[in-house]
Amino acid sequence: MSTAAAKKTLSNDAYDVEAIRADFPAMSLQVNGKPLVFLDSGASAQKPSVVLERMDRMYRSEYANVHRGAYRLSELATENYENARKTVAQFMNASVDEIVFTRSVTAAINLVAHSFGRAFLKAGDEVVISHMEHHANIVPWQLLRDIMGIVIKVAPIDDDGNFLIDEFKKLLGPKTKLVAITHCSNVLGTITPIKEITRIAHEAGAKVLIDGAQGIVHLGVDVRDVDCDFYGFTGHKLYGPTGIGVLYGKRDLLNALPPYEGGGDMIELVTFEKTTYREAPARFEAGTPPIVEAVGLAAAIDYVNSVGLDRIAKHETGLRDYAMKRLGEIDGLTIIGRPREKGPIVSFTLEGAHPHDIATIIDSKGVAVRAGHHCAQPLMERCNVAATARASFAMYNRIEDVDALVDALNTVKDIFG
Ligand SMILES: *Cc1c(COP(=O)(O)O)cnc(C)c1O
Repeated sequence: MSTAAAKKTLSNDAYDVEAIRADFPAMSLQVNGKPLVFLDSGASAQKPSVVLERMDRMYRSEYANVHRGAYRLSELATENYENARKTVAQFMNASVDEIVFTRSVTAAINLVAHSFGRAFLKAGDEVVISHMEHHANIVPWQLLRDIMGIVIKVAPIDDDGNFLIDEFKKLLGPKTKLVAITHCSNVLGTITPIKEITRIAHEAGAKVLIDGAQGIVHLGVDVRDVDCDFYGFTGHKLYGPTGIGVLYGKRDLLNALPPYEGGGDMIELVTFEKTTYREAPARFEAGTPPIVEAVGLAAAIDYVNSVGLDRIAKHETGLRDYAMKRLGEIDGLTIIGRPREKGPIVSFTLEGAHPHDIATIIDSKGVAVRAGHHCAQPLMERCNVAATARASFAMYNRIEDVDALVDALNTVKDIFG
């Protein structure tokens, strides 16, 4: 792969954020007559040219349905699709047959809730989540509760947003069948100790699902090392396209689960009396999959690898520290979430201004942040706020973006006096 950023990083160990920005078309956008300052990558990240070009090339000259045609173009599409699975597997240190392509992490969690839930849970069994879960890791368990009478237990956090491991331990018992916890909070930035959580859950005989939507972007994951049973993430937050997500599951476990959706490609043999299902991952990929999206995701992972996840993380941590310091100096501003281990996500409130007003006013300066409950209403309640504004940082952000945010927030203060 030859991109400006990749070339730079080979010859120069200093993180060249300008070279990286040059790889992202959105970084040269103007909005409201101002250069875009994009601080909402936690909701969805911008895409590097290599992803857009790869998808365009596939649609133009390598496109057909997969796993079907006995002709060259379909073989090529199948190769590309299966190579994308390989890229994802290597990225997570999994095997290819442990990688299920889904629509998103939301779809991945719903898959586990339905397949694992219906096959292995019964009324009274317990699923442990945490107080800082995204709705995507709350509501599927509630749906299952309504269907089968499982019990949801919530592991608490402290006022700084730290995951309380000792309190978590107390919730586990013989009825605990699954622990489903986020790797990194999309609101507080809290990084949870997923390896320790997994070990403790396994000792109690429970399986573990990690919501990696934020975690994989900033920290990466080695699923062998963590030893979790499931790990889900979503492509569009990892600089890939929308419409593609991943569910990692341990091979034997995946093959022990019943299919979730039925359709083409997931079967071995169909008669009206009986149908037999293929092994994972095929059994969970009913119908035409997101072919080009998977290939786009693989291009995004190649790009991230070419820059280096460690170097990206170090850069993002620098931005977070600088943002915490500068925002902390603003009178009347409260940072929500000061956990010991924190990703590059900074939520805050400003006295006298609703988060939506903050976001609207600073948008006129070209600064894009998220405002609202961030799909985590129970967490908002825990933090005693109705909503927050949230700045989230990605590989293409720079120190000047934080300065622009602070300047724009001072305008908000002037308006609201
Ligand atoms: C964004 C996010 C999700 C949901 O991602 P989708 O792409 O909408 O499925 C789930 N969990 C966390 C922690 C997130 O940040």
